[in-house]
This record gives sequence, structure tokens and C-alpha cells, in this order.
Amino acid sequence: MYYTRGLYGFGFDPMYILVIIMGILCMVASYRVSSVYKKYERIRSRSNMTGAQVAMEILRRNGITDVAVAHVSGNLTDHYDPRRKVVNLSDATYNSPSVAAVGVAAHECGHVCQHYYGYVPLKIRTAIVPAANIGSKAGIPIIILGMFLSLSPLITIGIWVFSLAVLFQLVTLPVEFDASRRALVMLEEYGFLDDEELHHSKKVLSAAAMTYVASAAAAVVQLLRLVLLNGRRRD
Ligand SMILES: [Zn+2]
Repeated sequence: MYYTRGLYGFGFDPMYILVIIMGILCMVASYRVSSVYKKYERIRSRSNMTGAQVAMEILRRNGITDVAVAHVSGNLTDHYDPRRKVVNLSDATYNSPSVAAVGVAAHECGHVCQHYYGYVPLKIRTAIVPAANIGSKAGIPIIILGMFLSLSPLITIGIWVFSLAVLFQLVTLPVEFDASRRALVMLEEYGFLDDEELHHSKKVLSAAAMTYVASAAAAVVQLLRLVLLNGRRRD
């Protein structure tokens, strides 16, 4: 019972406080990316190219002809879909010539380049997507079932399954940082942004990267807590 309450209860173990702190950090990071985006969405780039135009031009200059640039609804929903080969840009990015929009559009093209040039961490990430999905959905339920049935091996299996989801979050980090690095290099090299504008775009991309760092850290803390609780339960 102690264990069950420790997992979902009211802070029987100090790690629980750390889990809450990590949750707050995730919220702060996500609030920050919206506020930084709002700030730089008001600054128009001197080249006056929209996010979509920049994306198309980056793809063209890299000789990538089989990837489309499309408009998706939503806020900060920009992503590259490697299966359908589409760079999806959100309302705030597609038609906007702001330094924020251009930065995000170039970041998504950074993912396209990773895909085309065989960037290894992206390959690893793509390969573990199915396992990570199972891990994030089934890990905790297996652990709870293991606790309910007092089956230690089942709890251990649940922790291993959950760790697949954590691994995915960790592999996401180099992928995201590299996409932003590629974006800034291309924006500078192709002359889409000047030094000052690059600095602004970098702030937007760094704020976005922090959301991935925060959620990966939260996942690691959560995993660590499960491992510690399981160890204590056995003692
Ligand atoms: Zn990304």
C-alpha cells in the first residue's frame, strides 16, 4: 500500500518533490517558448520571405525535390513528416515573414536534411518510435499491475518498458539541437537573415529546444524514481 501511495500519493518519497519540480519546469519551458515566439513574431525579416518561401528555397538549394511544404492549422504545430515527405508549417509560420517564422521553418528543413543526409541519431529515433509508443502507454500500467499482484518481476519488466519511452526522449535531444544548428547555418549561408536577425531566430529555437530538455529531464527523474521505489520495495 505504501508503494502505491508513494507512486500517486502525496509525497512519501523525496523524489516525488523532484518529479513535481520537473513538471513545473516543463510548464515554464512551454510558456517561455510561446512568449519568446510572440516577441519575435513581431519582427519582420529584412529579406521579407515567409516561412513557407524560406522552407521551399532551403529544400531547392539542397537539391531536395520530393519534399512538399504544406500549411497545417494550430499553434506551434510545425513538423516534418518523413513518411509523407511534407514539411508542415503552422498558421504562425507559413505566411509570416517574421524572424521567428523563418527560424522555425528552417528548423523543420533541418530535419529534412537530417533525413536526406542520413543523420544517425534521427535513424535511431525513427527506429525506436514503435517501442517508445509501447513504453509510454504500457510502462506505468504494467508497473501498477505488478504492484497490485505483488509481482516483482512484472514491476521490473514495466520499468524496462517505460525506459524505452525515456530513451526516445533522450535521443530526441541531439536530433532537435542538430536541426536548429543546421537551420542557423543555412539561414546565414543563404543570406535569408542578417546577424541581428539570426540572433533573434536563435533565441526562438533555443527556447523550443528547452522544452525538449525539460521533458527529457522529467522523464529521467520519473524513471529514476521508479527504479528507487522498486529497490526500496524489495528491501
Ligand atoms: Zn524539431
